[in-house]
Amino acid sequence: MARLGSWIESHPEGIYVRPADAWIDPSQPKAKALVTHGHADHARGGHGAVLATPETLAIMEIRYGPQSGQGIAYDEQTRVGEVDVRFVPAGHVLGSAQIVLEHKGERVVVSGDYKRRPDPTCPCFVPVPCDIFITEATFGLPVFRHPDTGSEIDRLLHRLHSDPSRCVLVGAYALGKAQRIITELRGRGHDAPIYFHGAIERLNQLYESFGIDLGELRHTGGASKVEMAGHVVIAPPGALNDRWSRRLPDPVTAMASGWMRIRQRARQRNVELPLIISDHADWDELTMTIRELAPTEVWITHGREEALKHWCLTHQIKASELNLVGYEDEDD
Ligand SMILES: [Zn+2]
Repeated sequence: MARLGSWIESHPEGIYVRPADAWIDPSQPKAKALVTHGHADHARGGHGAVLATPETLAIMEIRYGPQSGQGIAYDEQTRVGEVDVRFVPAGHVLGSAQIVLEHKGERVVVSGDYKRRPDPTCPCFVPVPCDIFITEATFGLPVFRHPDTGSEIDRLLHRLHSDPSRCVLVGAYALGKAQRIITELRGRGHDAPIYFHGAIERLNQLYESFGIDLGELRHTGGASKVEMAGHVVIAPPGALNDRWSRRLPDPVTAMASGWMRIRQRARQRNVELPLIISDHADWDELTMTIRELAPTEVWITHGREEALKHWCLTHQIKASELNLVGYEDEDD
């Protein structure tokens, strides 16, 4: 009998599904690409044809222009070559999907980036039992245990209300994290206008066009320091320490990222208020998910593969590392 998953090949530039003649999240332009989600390290431009959720295709069109692709809704069954393909929610960002592949009686799930805790901007991760689970491991070390999101948002609001002459400037990745922070703030009863850096405007609009209510948003461009005092301002991480931030009223610099668990990373960015809010599974979510899916094999991609591989082996699950290049972990 052939080795499990012998029809799936791991190459440095991505995962190749031979009987579908298609690549998953390839880092190089390919004739046919299946794309898990819109972050730039997974969704590249220049492919011949793209299969992705309609949300992911819309994100790619903002970034790369018109795509010759096919939007596939969650749970819609489609066939690519000799493989049955289904996109299932991954809970990572708007449109993010796990890709479920079935061929010759074997089921393989490619998680893409995922998390298990609720996110108001996208449907929750759906566990799909499988023979092979190809998982990310961005936070694949026991030290990474993300705190409760609500308590992190409360720390932000407490800081905001403690000095109404200042603003709280939150660094958040433009796709996903920025809109999640806004909706989490709304969920904690923060109805005031939220100011945003121009670089996230189009993605805010895109989220709204897919029915995500972000409340009242204002561009920082036309606003005075006095107007912005006592308000939250959201900007991409790269803007935290640049000239742009001088227009803000004495900002308390915050950053929302799973990496804020590491003090050194907070110091590097001069972050005064580190908020540990991640769009990736933490150690407990990774191991809980593997237990729940009970796959025969786990293949581990980008991140800290070693510890998770060791955990699998001690739990009698065959595990191996895939050495894909080009994935970054800055989207968190
Ligand atoms: Zn991502």
